[in-house]
Amino acid sequence: MALPELIELVRESNPFQRARLEGLGSAPLLEEIPPLTKDELVADQRAHPPFGTNLTHPLEDYVQIHQTSGSTGPPLRVLDTAADSRWWQGMFAHTLSVAGVRPGHRVALAFSFGPHVQFWAARDGLHELGATALPLGGMASVQRLTTMAEVEATAVMCTPTYALRLLEVALDQRLDHALEPIRQVICTGEPGASLPAVRSRIEDGFGAACIDHAGLAEVGPWGYPCPEGGGLHVYDDEFICEILEDSLNPTPPGECGELVLTPLRRTGFPVLRYRTGDVVANSDHRCPGGHEHRWLPGGIVGRTDDMVVIRGMNVFPSVIEEAVRGVSGSGEFRITFYSEQGGMDEIKLEVELEDGGDARRLQDVMRQRLGLRVRVVPVNSGLLRRPEGKARRVVDDRMPRWSAA
Ligand SMILES: [Zn+2]
Repeated sequence: MALPELIELVRESNPFQRARLEGLGSAPLLEEIPPLTKDELVADQRAHPPFGTNLTHPLEDYVQIHQTSGSTGPPLRVLDTAADSRWWQGMFAHTLSVAGVRPGHRVALAFSFGPHVQFWAARDGLHELGATALPLGGMASVQRLTTMAEVEATAVMCTPTYALRLLEVALDQRLDHALEPIRQVICTGEPGASLPAVRSRIEDGFGAACIDHAGLAEVGPWGYPCPEGGGLHVYDDEFICEILEDSLNPTPPGECGELVLTPLRRTGFPVLRYRTGDVVANSDHRCPGGHEHRWLPGGIVGRTDDMVVIRGMNVFPSVIEEAVRGVSGSGEFRITFYSEQGGMDEIKLEVELEDGGDARRLQDVMRQRLGLRVRVVPVNSGLLRRPEGKARRVVDDRMPRWSAA
């Protein structure tokens, strides 16, 4: 479906989109459509519970209710029709095949199977591909590793944080034979697998390829990994892809901006110019593999809502993670942003380090990467909480700033 057809459809039968397009001409240009944030969808759902008004079809046409994780705000319910579910499934099957998963492979799904779309889309994609899904919801890490060993899982899908955790448990509990048949670690849910140091840590530990991919409940599975060049490709035949600055003007080539997507074929819960919150680099280069879809060289480099401004410098927690993984391996860490007595904002990094000398090295790396001094506090191994799913490693204790106005 082309954009004009999508606009015509939602104007006809989707109250939420009709209101957003009000005042625009009969055939608005993409740039005229106001970019959409998750907050707007959440507010609509609050005003019109339980599903809001962003529905193009009668309620009985929807077959699946998903919920976003709520890690960056209140959860949002997203509904899919049977056709939209099939679309997810097909896209996900393609992503998995690019990742190297083949019919007959056994893929361990090391996550909770909650209301998030990711779990179910992974399962559906594996079915379409003819691979075998091995759900490991409701199990502790030891049980997961034992099961993977028993059935000889050939791949595992989880967050990059959890992949490092599994590795740690496998070594601790002498379950590393569970990792031997693993050929791919397919990461999702966090930017980690785009970070070279995190990726190589996972690849070395598992002796397998670490593959990133990307999707959001609100837009769909929009990206797949580039095996040759790293980073991600956007399915730009399925999604209109824009990279925008804070001002919502296009980001110049070579710079980073927010990824804004318009899925063209998902009509049940449509989003036009959806601000994903993912920060990506705008490159006009083709990938070295010559793949047809648009290439995002570094994949997702951070989240707009993760970014913190410390003494005038933009700080992404993912940059700190990259530095930690380069120095300390799979040890846990916690980042605290806080204000000194004098009101100056500072960064504290608590990190499990094996070698005391690493703290100094980490401090140096951080100064180079961030242009800031970071207080590195080494802590004993095992002291920091182990995340099982999406990691929350950032504490913001800064004093609130009151504007003069
Ligand atoms: Zn490529």
